[in-house]
Amino acid sequence: MPFWDKEMETLPRAELEEMQVKRLKATIARSQRSVFYRTRLKEIDESRFNKPEDVALLPFTTKTDLRNNYDFGLVTVPKNEIIRMHASSGTTGKATVIFHTRKDIETWAELVARCIVMTGAGKGDVFQNIISYGLFTGGLGLHYGAEKVGMLTIPSGVGNTKRQIQLMKDFKTTVFHATPSYILYVSEVMVEEGYDPNGFDLRIGFVGAEPHSEKTRQRIEDTFDIDAYNSYGMSELNGPGVAFECEEKNGMHLWEDRYLLEVVDPRTGEELAPGEEGELVVTTLDREAMPIIRYRTGDLARIVDEGERCACGRTHVRISRIKGRTDDMLIVKGVNLYPSQIEDVLMSFPEVAATYQIVLKRESSLDTLTVRVELNPKLFDGDLRKLKKLEYEITKNIQDEIEVRPTVEFHEPGSLPRSEGKAVRVIDLRGEL
Ligand code: ADP
Ligand code: ZN
Repeated sequence: MPFWDKEMETLPRAELEEMQVKRLKATIARSQRSVFYRTRLKEIDESRFNKPEDVALLPFTTKTDLRNNYDFGLVTVPKNEIIRMHASSGTTGKATVIFHTRKDIETWAELVARCIVMTGAGKGDVFQNIISYGLFTGGLGLHYGAEKVGMLTIPSGVGNTKRQIQLMKDFKTTVFHATPSYILYVSEVMVEEGYDPNGFDLRIGFVGAEPHSEKTRQRIEDTFDIDAYNSYGMSELNGPGVAFECEEKNGMHLWEDRYLLEVVDPRTGEELAPGEEGELVVTTLDREAMPIIRYRTGDLARIVDEGERCACGRTHVRISRIKGRTDDMLIVKGVNLYPSQIEDVLMSFPEVAATYQIVLKRESSLDTLTVRVELNPKLFDGDLRKLKKLEYEITKNIQDEIEVRPTVEFHEPGSLPRSEGKAVRVIDLRGEL
């Protein structure tokens, strides 16, 4: 099994934890050079940090802290040491900006290189980076790692779908990176254009940047006849390269020599027992320009740990698929639910195409939930009785999953809006009525 940095990726836990403590102390010291942490961490006594869990002695950093300290408030180096700026996509409000020194860019590329090689991709592959470049970190993040491992890298960016397909065909792309929603859209256009999506040279896909279910992964794998690996990251923690699946596809390894992970109860901020689902809180362990301490990612997941090392040999902790953001949670008729739960049900029906929408309304003070789906033209022949039966089954399965009875609406194939970046799944009209 291939490794990029075998020694570090398989470092015994005791050594890894020792390294974390050392780097945590250095991070605390460095962070105090920034305007924000100088006040925030004034009274901190570094000698109290003897094990990784001691990080809990420190206060959290939130997205609001980053926004309030826009633009250079968390920076710890002179401005002329900064060589790159990125920003979050701004999915949940005003974007946050992140700065990197040359060393930061280098270590980030190293982490991405580990991720790429961990999936079996590498030198000799033709890599099409079908994701937005620019301020968004997905483009340049994967790009630098891909060049580092020596893949032929095509910075095709997102959009212009027919051209993407042409590039794939002409240059025999073997590996791609895309959001799950966009790559499934690419497969639809392939079919429209008369291609068979599994007739290309593709063998591996990196999919991430938005929540998606195991069923969606399977659909991507079947559609293109590839192995698809989940990629997790966010601009505040560099971008892609934070956690990635290995060939076992059983959780994403989070690189603990660079990140210190905690899982907390999103309401109380209390540490949860191992394996419990909660909000990921992450501390960067060696970032120069902009260290971040106990960052409340807002993302919900759990630690996948059977108490033993992963079969791939890596010692770094594994996290589950991300269920969504704490603020993706919908409260419908008093019931808490996540769009990913609905997606999981939908994707278990092969007759249903990959694009869907969840519409929430309030009618005479009652919440209604409508799920708009498209039928897969290849698998549905227009028989009305079958359509009724399908509607009944989807409705029932969603109700079993989320305890709210939805209305299922069928839409013409290709009629629901597609997105090139992160898909917008939920339309909540309850405030407007
Ligand atoms: P924004 O927070 O504005 O969307 P980013 O572009 O930095 O900015 O996106 C990071 C966020 O995207 C993460 O916090 C997470 O919510 C989501 N995300 C990234 N990768 C994944 C993934 N593999 N699965 C689910 N969600 C993901
Ligand atoms: Zn592994």
